This record gives sequence, C-alpha cells and structure tokens, in this order.
Amino acid sequence: MSRIDLHTHTTFSDGSVSPTELVELANQQGLDILSITDHDTTEGLPEAIEAAKDFPLELIPGVELSAQFQSQEMHILGYFINMTDPQFQKRLKALRATRHVRILQILDRLHTLGMDISLEEVEATSGTGTIGRPHIAQVLITKGHVKDMKEAFERLLGSRGNAYVPRDVPEAQEIITWIIDAGGIPVLAHPYWEGWNKAESITSCQTLVEQGLQGLEVFYGTFSARQISFNLGLARQFDLLMTGGSDFHGTFKPGITLGKGRGSLHVPSKTVERLRIAAGQ
Ligand SMILES: [Zn+2]
Ligand SMILES: [Zn+2]
Repeated sequence: MSRIDLHTHTTFSDGSVSPTELVELANQQGLDILSITDHDTTEGLPEAIEAAKDFPLELIPGVELSAQFQSQEMHILGYFINMTDPQFQKRLKALRATRHVRILQILDRLHTLGMDISLEEVEATSGTGTIGRPHIAQVLITKGHVKDMKEAFERLLGSRGNAYVPRDVPEAQEIITWIIDAGGIPVLAHPYWEGWNKAESITSCQTLVEQGLQGLEVFYGTFSARQISFNLGLARQFDLLMTGGSDFHGTFKPGITLGKGRGSLHVPSKTVERLRIAAGQ
C-alpha cells in the first residue's frame, strides 16, 4: 500500500519548509508519492525534483491556483502540469500580481485600524516565495498586534475579519482552461461547498464539470467522514477523478501533519493510478 500526499506547500508559497526539507520530511514519514502544490507558482518544483533523486519518492508536479466562482474564492489544483510551458508561466505571473494588489489593500485597512505594517516587512517574511496573508499574520504576531495565526485570521485577515479584502482573480472556467492548456488535470481543492445546501452543491459541481473540471479532492487533511462521503458521492455521480492530500503548510498551519492531515488522512493508491492514466503519464 502506497502512502500518498498530493497537497502540500513550501516556502515558495505560504509553507514554512523549503522544497528540499519537504522531500526529506516526506521520506521520513514513509511517503511513496508526493505532490507539491504551491499557490500560483511552480518555482519550487525544480529544487524538489533534485532533492527527490536521493529518495524512493515519486514527485507529481502540481500547483494550486486561486479562482472565482459565483463570487466566492475557490482553489483549483493542477496535476501533471508541464511547468516549462511559457504560456502557463506567463499566466501564473499575472495571477501572482493580483496577490500584491490585495496585500497593499489589506495593509491599507490595517493602517486604518491603527496597525502600521509596511510591504517591506511582509516581503521580508515571505522571502522569495509567493506572498500571502500568512506572511502579514507573521508580521502582526512579531509586532504584538495579535498573539497567533488563529487570532490574526479570525479577527483581521480571514473572510470575516476587519481587514479582509477579497482577491480579484479569474473565473474558475478560465483557471481550468489554463491547467488543461498546460497538459494538466484540474481538480477542485478542499470542496467544502460552503454556503450551499446539498442541491446547490450538486448544481455547482455540475457547472464546474461542464467548464472542464476533472477531479475532486475527496480525501482532505481536515475532512470529516461525512464530508468525505458527500464528495465521494459527487465524484461518482459526475464520473470525476479523486485525489487527496493534507494541505501541509508546516508551522503555518499547526495541527496538520504531512501525509496524515489531522491524523486520519488516507489517499487510496488507485486514485493516483487513475490520475496518471487521465494525464497520459
Ligand atoms: Zn487551498
Ligand atoms: Zn493548499
């Protein structure tokens, strides 16, 4: 039985470990298959591929892209993407630029709330990686405005927080097309179907399938048995591929262990076999 984790982040987005450290950790945890799915970037993959050469670990190229769907932000994973595709890289660069605009808007809100944080301070925390809200949170903690990540998101940066600003990102249909154009498989990340009842969730899933979605992340680090079974039902109904992963972010997401999520994550081997076949790999 293979041990699999297809959803992880590194310092190239908002994770706390480098691609090399993540590969080493995956090996320590006894994983057989790993996918790194940094937000809006594939720039961590070459380092990971290099590091994985030392271990019996299969690395699947991945990415996690932000999209809009019915005015909500959603995340779409892309697996087996061709990361050297110049058009794809150009599109990712444009997507990353929307992050900067949003960061500045959030810093503006924080300023109004009496918390002065500069873009330089946030950039110093993110290093060379894709900048995101956890990096603002980190500065808020360091400066003593909040005590931890949880408070930063609940009170300020989360969708119900006082300094929240939604990001202006492309529609899901467009993001799905980007992934397909780059030879990848588009999969809906952590489908919570928030704010929708059962019938609405089914309709939304159907719309996404019509737009080219090919899979659902059925097995997710924090999903309950009920959530897994609901998504399993949707995947069967629409004949979708199934994937799974922990959404590991290192210390930026406490309580989530690589390959295990909150402890009970199990990604069946046959899901990866089907994904591989669909990608022609
Ligand atoms: Zn996500
Ligand atoms: Zn993620």
